Amino acid sequence: MIRVGVVGALGRMGSAVCRAVVADPETALVAAVDVRAANEWITTSDGSKVQVDAEMDVLTQAEVDVAVDFTHPSAVLENARWCVQHAIDVVVGTTGLSDRDVDELRRLIDAEGNESNVFVAPNFATGAVLMMRFAAEAARHFPSIEIVELHHDGKADAPSGTALATARVIAESRPGAPAPQSAEVVPGARGGDVEGIRVHSVRLPGLVAHQEVILGSPGQTLTIRHDSTDRESFMPGVLLAVKKIKDHPGLTVGLEALLD
Ligand code: NAP
Repeated sequence: MIRVGVVGALGRMGSAVCRAVVADPETALVAAVDVRAANEWITTSDGSKVQVDAEMDVLTQAEVDVAVDFTHPSAVLENARWCVQHAIDVVVGTTGLSDRDVDELRRLIDAEGNESNVFVAPNFATGAVLMMRFAAEAARHFPSIEIVELHHDGKADAPSGTALATARVIAESRPGAPAPQSAEVVPGARGGDVEGIRVHSVRLPGLVAHQEVILGSPGQTLTIRHDSTDRESFMPGVLLAVKKIKDHPGLTVGLEALLD
């Protein structure tokens, strides 16, 4: 049985992860952390209760094997550092870690004697991973590409981590492709430039997580679209990471590393 602690346990993703961990016969929810904690309890599969705590220390007290972080871009680096310094494997779903942050964590794991592993994924939905893969393949055949990502209006960051990761894999698949040029009457109308690819972020109530990669060449367009209509879409990927992280030493980025 893998002993799991969820950080951000009262949030949209964290609460779904708590339910998924409780429901899975190979995992046990033994700790829950959230800065909002105010005497909330989570009932586990055997009927016992786990209190949501405001402090990370509860992870060591509960002898957690794997922590899962779905918090906030401003908190994720500090939380991941804490886990590495306390020899706890951590699955990071929170977006917002920069390449520099990832490098820092890699160095920290080494400096702390490689006692913990870190797994980071901008998107735990298998469909989103396939969307990125298909987009990278299609990008070699289309000179023009734009990304439109659409999320609920409570999302803290823009563009999404998935859009950033998609732009990166597309750029890697066609090095040297020219960035699109066009004048803007209203600043920002053409979206943000990520690796030479225009990224547009839509935020609306009623959405969960959606992305279109639109590829164009003379006389044709190809649209690759993925929709997470429910946060359940992320749970198989999160549970896979929880179960496999011990077999992936150091720092691993992307669910595709576990699927292949
Ligand atoms: P959310 O509903 O705001 O939940 C985050 C929770 O974490 C909140 O209860 C928040 O409290 C709490 N929190 C903030 N800082 C904390 C800290 N230092 N320690 C403990 N708890 C803390 O957000 P969400 O929609 O669940 O999304 C969370 C993150 O997951 C975002 O970065 C989002 O982009 C990402 N995400 C990733 C995937 C993926 O597949 N990788 C999928 C969906 C979302 P306060 O509200 O008081 O700050």
